[in-house]
Amino acid sequence: MGNKVVTKGKYRIGFDLGGTKMMVALFDADFKILASHREKLKSRSGPKTGIEQLTEAISQTLADAAVKPEQLAGIGLGCPGQVDLDKGVIIEAPNLGWRDVPLKQLLEKIFNCPVVITNDVDAGTYGEYIFGAGKGGRCVLGVFPGTGIGGACVYDGHLIRGKSGSCLEIGHIQVQSDGPLCGCGRRGCIEAIASRLAISAQIAMAAFRGSAPHLLEEAGLDLREIRSKTIVRSIEAGDAVVEKIVRDAARKLGNAIASVVNLLAPDIVVLGGGLVEALPKLYQKEVGDAIKSEAMKAFTAELRIEVAKLGDNAGVLGAAALIV
Ligand SMILES: [Zn+2]
Repeated sequence: MGNKVVTKGKYRIGFDLGGTKMMVALFDADFKILASHREKLKSRSGPKTGIEQLTEAISQTLADAAVKPEQLAGIGLGCPGQVDLDKGVIIEAPNLGWRDVPLKQLLEKIFNCPVVITNDVDAGTYGEYIFGAGKGGRCVLGVFPGTGIGGACVYDGHLIRGKSGSCLEIGHIQVQSDGPLCGCGRRGCIEAIASRLAISAQIAMAAFRGSAPHLLEEAGLDLREIRSKTIVRSIEAGDAVVEKIVRDAARKLGNAIASVVNLLAPDIVVLGGGLVEALPKLYQKEVGDAIKSEAMKAFTAELRIEVAKLGDNAGVLGAAALIV
């Protein structure tokens, strides 16, 4: 493992900074986890408290394994929002309430080692490419439906990126010009139709109408309570309408991915995120069928649709593997 990565130092830190939680892991040279730590972000705490919390989490993880900062080859960090990849500056992360935070510079000063800042979806896709479901692929497309729908692509060993930031915003492919309003301000983006949040909203409506009794009993109508596991349990308990909502969304997601397949001709599409990992067969089938019927035949003959294998570890592994 890790044969695509050259490093001089022995240990490395991988950090996955989510919108609401953070995970940090310390790896040895073979990418074995020596210590890890996860916690909720102090909500809307702003950059100062956030960076203190982040720094403490790294220090704590190092201390747990009795590793000193000077033994690090580097720190790799996957962040949500808009990132200047060259400068390592978080331009804007609305969920965190951060704006223009020079994270790379700040962490390099504190830990005195190289710091690589990347986009969180890029980190997760890279992790799956090096260690998981995308291993061995030439062109690996990662798609992660969650609160939004994240996308990333590794081509010939490198993450495809824009001039200074990340790209592959699959979630904002418009599939219905008069569709529901998206968080980006446009209508009918695939994210507004097929993200886990969009699915949960449709399920809440079905529950309100009385057609998803098991779900209503377990989760009520609060979107925050309609989580991946709740959705799976309600399908298993016989809420047929919930299964239909998820299948339709997965099919539509597949249609959107088919357009990206036509552009990039990937050999592996990796699907990840909580709902996909909770319903792997359903997603593999619906997305796979949609891509096969919608994308160009020449591009689908040898295309593999895989479900992510690394779960929550994909982000920390990918971020750590990006340290060179
Ligand atoms: Zn959008």
